[in-house]
Formats: sequence, structure tokens, C-alpha cells
Amino acid sequence: MDVRIDNVRKEFDRFAALNDVSLDIRSGELIALLGPSGSGKTTLLRLIAGLDFPTSGAIYFGDEEASRKTVQERNIGFVFQHYALFRHMTVAENIGFGLKVRPSATRPPRSEIRRRASELLDLVQLSGLEGRYPSQLSGGQRQRVALARALAIEPRVLLLDEPFGALDAQVRRELRRWLREIHDSTGHTTVFVTHDQEEALELADRVVVMSQGGIEQVGTPDQIYDDPTSPFVYGFIGDSSELPVKVENGQVWLEDRAIGLDASGVSDGEALLYFRPHDIELLDGCGGCVAGTVAASRRVAGMRRVELEVGGSRHRVELELPTEQAAAEKSRIAFRPKRWKLFPIAGRSGAHLPRAA
Ligand code: ADP
Ligand code: MG
Repeated sequence: MDVRIDNVRKEFDRFAALNDVSLDIRSGELIALLGPSGSGKTTLLRLIAGLDFPTSGAIYFGDEEASRKTVQERNIGFVFQHYALFRHMTVAENIGFGLKVRPSATRPPRSEIRRRASELLDLVQLSGLEGRYPSQLSGGQRQRVALARALAIEPRVLLLDEPFGALDAQVRRELRRWLREIHDSTGHTTVFVTHDQEEALELADRVVVMSQGGIEQVGTPDQIYDDPTSPFVYGFIGDSSELPVKVENGQVWLEDRAIGLDASGVSDGEALLYFRPHDIELLDGCGGCVAGTVAASRRVAGMRRVELEVGGSRHRVELELPTEQAAAEKSRIAFRPKRWKLFPIAGRSGAHLPRAA
């Protein structure tokens, strides 16, 4: 089921929790809403679900306007972080619940409900536990039951709001892969909310980066990571270093030094230079590069992380170097970003220049 969000605004009192949000969700895709706490992810999910209604704008399911329809009419499956299972019901009863409460005209017979529950238990790899009560399950198992329960009604859209948020890191990673496999085998249109970038990038076909009630960028995980289109996305996804620079006649200047980046076509003025700590080349001498003094150096897994003071110690950037690269404190290092972007400081919303060396 395609879901189209068209210019949606949601106000609480007069505060706009969502501001002119438009988004096309394609049938069968797994899309992640990623953003810091308070950016409007849950609000958007609740509007898609029909748990709440937009102040203005519209939501379409396929060609049908769904903005004013109820949750039941939209036929939505949910899993929330703390969407407690019914404590007094067994696993099988929990999974069958959504079917059992249907009006008799659309309710499957009991034997069919049992069969479906057992099929779904297979799918979520909990066969044999149908008679257990929620208190007899681990947190990860409970969320799997919650997913089976959401799938039981054959939802048109599956909505998950930080479903693994309360679980420990190891279990989260396992469930993430498992969810992706389930998605691939069932093909539901799925919207997954998370504030965890690793989760979003690993799981989703496309990632929607949200900030302050708006959408900052929509793209595949590769696009979002390799080609951020705003300082916010650079800062929020992955690691980035930032330097205040000046553009003059197609040259990028840090303080009084041209740093060897070609900015032809960019208008003169102050800008922020962004790059990833690993997207750099080290240079021997410095005719057109950034030079600095190592302020701190630490080993992180297979790399060395170096904090470099540059521009007369006024700025710090982070670099990622091979472990064999010597980087003693106070030693000098010169480098140049290989992939980078400039964002003009005046009128940040204005044009920016993507660049790759
Ligand atoms: P997220 O899920 O990204 O953390 P939410 O969608 O829950 O963000 O919230 C977005 C903003 O809307 C927050 O500032 C939050 O305080 C506000 N908000 C959410 N729901 C309500 C509500 N029912 N009443 C008033 N403000 C709300
Ligand atoms: Mg939320």
C-alpha cells in the first residue's frame, strides 16, 4: 500500500509539532523515520495510524483519502516500545486477539485463528511458546510476540515506534536483522521510528531524517551518509568535522591560508566546511592544506582518532587515521579533505555546493 503524506501540519495548542511535511512511502518499502527526541517522529506515525488527525494537509492510502479514517478502517499494525502485551493472555491468545475481536461477519473461525497464530509464531521463531504468559518471556521475545500480533490482522501498513528501544544493544542488533528478514519475506509497507542512526541505516530501504517538526532529507542509507544536504544531517548522521572558512575567488580560506580546495562557482563569503573524519588525505608539506597540532589521540577499534587544533588553535577537527600513523600529542599533521561540502553561513537554507575530489 502506497502512503502519501501531503503537506501535513500538526499543532498542539499553537505549537507546530509537524510543519508542512510531505512524504511518499512506496508500497512494500521499509522506511525509517530518524531524528532526535522531539523532532516529530511519533506525531507523524500517529497521524499515519489514525490515532490522531492533522491540523491541515492530507494523508492518502493508495488513491484513497484516509486523513479522517479510524485506525480500524485503515487496518494498521502497530508495535510500540512499551506496547504491553495482555498479561492475562497466553502468547497464542495475544497473537489472535485482533482477529478474535472482529465483528462476526469478518471474524475467522477459531480453528483458523489458531492456525494463523501458530504460523506467525513460526515466522517470529517462537514456536513451542504459544502457551506461555508474557511474564515468562524475555524482552526480546515479547517484542517478537508484539510483532506477530501486529501482523495477525494482515495490516495494510505496519508501524513500529522504537520497538527495540528498551532492549540491550546485542538483542537490538539481532532483532534488527530478524525484522529485516521478516520484512523481506512478508513485503509489508513498514514505517519504523528510531533515534538510533545505526538502526536506521542498517535496516531501512530509505531513511527520512527529521528535525524540529520537518523533514531534513530523504534518501537511501548511502545517500544520507555520503551526501548529506544540510549541516544538520552532517552533524546528526555519522561523525563530521566542521570548520568556519571563507570563500574568495573560487578558493577556500581558513584564516589567512588557502587550503587547496576548488570552490569555483561558489559565491564569495563566509561558509562552513564539512567533511567526514575518514574522508581526508594526509600531506607531507603544506602548500594548500589544513595544518594543525595534535591535541588528543586515541585508539578506536581498528582506527586512530585524532583531535587536531587548527587555525592558530582556534578550531578543533577530528580525523580518522590508520593505527600505524604516528600521531603523538603536540606533533604537527597536515591534511586536506577528499570529500567535503560548503554551506554558506548567511542564508543557510540557500544553495550549497557538493564537492568530491
Ligand atoms: P519524537 O517522537 O520525535 O520524539 P514527538 O512526535 O513525540 O517527537 O513530539 C514532537 C513535539 O510535539 C514535541 O515537542 C512534543 O513535546 C510535542 N507533542 C507531542 N505530542 C503532544 C501532545 N499530545 N500535546 C502537546 N505536545 C505534544
Ligand atoms: Mg517518539
